[in-house]
Amino acid sequence: MLLFCAAFLFDLKGMHGAELVLSHLTKDRKTEQTGESRQGEISKLIVDYRLLADVIENKRRFYLDTFPSLEFVVLQGGDAWPDEIIALSVLLGHEPVNLDYEHPPDAREDLMYVSLERIRLMLESNTPSATLFLSDEPMGWREKLCVLTINPVEIAANDQTATHYLIEPYYEIRGKIKPQNYLDRREFVEFVFDHEVYHCLESNFIGPQPMSFLEFWGEYHHYRHENGADAFAVAMHMKRHGAVTDFVKNINLIRALTLFCDDCNHWTPEIITKVSNTEMKLLQTMDTAEIFRYATSLRNIIVPNYSDYLVYRSAAKEVCAQINSDLWNLGDEENLPEPDPKMVTDMLDTFRRSYFELTGNEID
Ligand SMILES: [Zn+2]
Repeated sequence: MLLFCAAFLFDLKGMHGAELVLSHLTKDRKTEQTGESRQGEISKLIVDYRLLADVIENKRRFYLDTFPSLEFVVLQGGDAWPDEIIALSVLLGHEPVNLDYEHPPDAREDLMYVSLERIRLMLESNTPSATLFLSDEPMGWREKLCVLTINPVEIAANDQTATHYLIEPYYEIRGKIKPQNYLDRREFVEFVFDHEVYHCLESNFIGPQPMSFLEFWGEYHHYRHENGADAFAVAMHMKRHGAVTDFVKNINLIRALTLFCDDCNHWTPEIITKVSNTEMKLLQTMDTAEIFRYATSLRNIIVPNYSDYLVYRSAAKEVCAQINSDLWNLGDEENLPEPDPKMVTDMLDTFRRSYFELTGNEID
């Protein structure tokens, strides 16, 4: 039964991948294509898909070996999401628990409903995400499941797609980033995988997000999570390559543009710069658990507490006003401290410099 479930879940994704590649191709297909060139394109896309699928599977195996208490499950979404949700429910058992958010026992069922609905939305929209569950019937699986949604074909069909992905809502940037600043798509899939895994490691090793009625409690934790996850993913990349690569430099520049996307919780250039300055010899002596703790300690320096987040958010709001971007879910009634002028200037400088380095143009 166990082997059957495992084969069901992962073979299903393999089959789905080929279908997804074909539907992808159909979208862009030119009607005058000859059968031969179309066949060539299909072959290339399937080879491309396999390369990205190998990246995903190798990462999954790496984390399974590294963290023996956790099961890592990757769902890829697209048209097969209903089957993936059914397979996931088999893995979770009858009374699973969400381990990402502190909650009273009588809220377990509601939170599970919301968690699965969120996974469904992530799968339908091909958005990367991570959720940690405690299964009550692991059937030989490890009882804690880190469930990732990553569709490598959608987020990294080519280097340009991968580059645009993190600033996707900001359509105006499309076509403006210089090709020499594009992210390597395979490195990008690895980065996304490491980033998402950090969210599970945080819930597992640090604990769930505590409950609170504070107005920006969720936003504050989101910002902390994203800083930690980017720090971890960049450090893992640097350790693999033994260098601060162009990928690191470009992802740092791209993250500085997230204010264009009305989003201040993914603004992570400060922590990426800190990780980039880590002595390489030191980084290479760290194992993955130590890199996790290192990333978390840097995050705790950058976002130490809730009131510091309000100071940061106030500065981000002011920067957004100056670049004509509106922070999402920002209300006029927001009760924030006065923006710190130096923080605003520094953020604006980082923002303008990053835009210039990526596009070769001053911002309008
Ligand atoms: Zn994240």
